[in-house]
Amino acid sequence: MDIAENDADVNVADNLRTVRAQIAAAAKAARRAPDEVTLVAVGKVQPVERVEAALEEGQRVFGENRIQEAQGKWPALKQKYPDVALHLIGPLQTNKAADAVALFDVIETVDRPKLARVLAGEMKKQGRSLECFVQVNTGEEEQKAGVLPSEADAFIESCRDEHGLNVTGLMCIPPVDEEPALHFALLREIARRHGLEKLSMGMSGDYETAIEFGATHVRVGTAIFGERQKPAG
Ligand SMILES: *Cc1c(COP(=O)(O)O)cnc(C)c1O
Repeated sequence: MDIAENDADVNVADNLRTVRAQIAAAAKAARRAPDEVTLVAVGKVQPVERVEAALEEGQRVFGENRIQEAQGKWPALKQKYPDVALHLIGPLQTNKAADAVALFDVIETVDRPKLARVLAGEMKKQGRSLECFVQVNTGEEEQKAGVLPSEADAFIESCRDEHGLNVTGLMCIPPVDEEPALHFALLREIARRHGLEKLSMGMSGDYETAIEFGATHVRVGTAIFGERQKPAG
């Protein structure tokens, strides 16, 4: 891969500074402290050079949506940068749960009883207790992962009480063609009912709105790393 050509149009360090400044401004506008919002940099299907540029710029929290891609990239990078925190933000098949528990630090996409059970078993087996977020399908989209809002209360309780998962927050991906604020407000309300403090919501196009609605984690890809070269699949 031609690094010079790839980097010619994308300055990751500049983009990171811009996104961080906008996060701080959005937090301030919402009368929140900027450090209440964690930037999760999403480097999926990006050249690894761009991810390294972010690491060199001090970024330490990253999101990946596919296990296999993360396994190809992160073991080496984690050796070099041991304080990295990796968030799984894509759908997780139960047969990949062991790999996910071994590599990731936070699973943002817990969304069904079988997955909760298998994850709990793997964590016990590996002696690792990962933070978990429950993904809620706020738009009730058929093709989208996440527990339905009407089933979220019971599912969150069973994750905690039955499986002993360390559930600390909720995550959502609003439908592309709807006003995201409504979905952010719904997620916040479900979290409030359960005393969950963390809200992973907001991407490149709407993270400032998400912060207004209480996001503690924004997942930003293209605004930092540029357009993805191929679909994330
Ligand atoms: C790719 C991805 C993002 C980042 O999207 P951008 O629009 O590039 O910022 C955020 N969340 C999830 C779950 C993703 O898969």
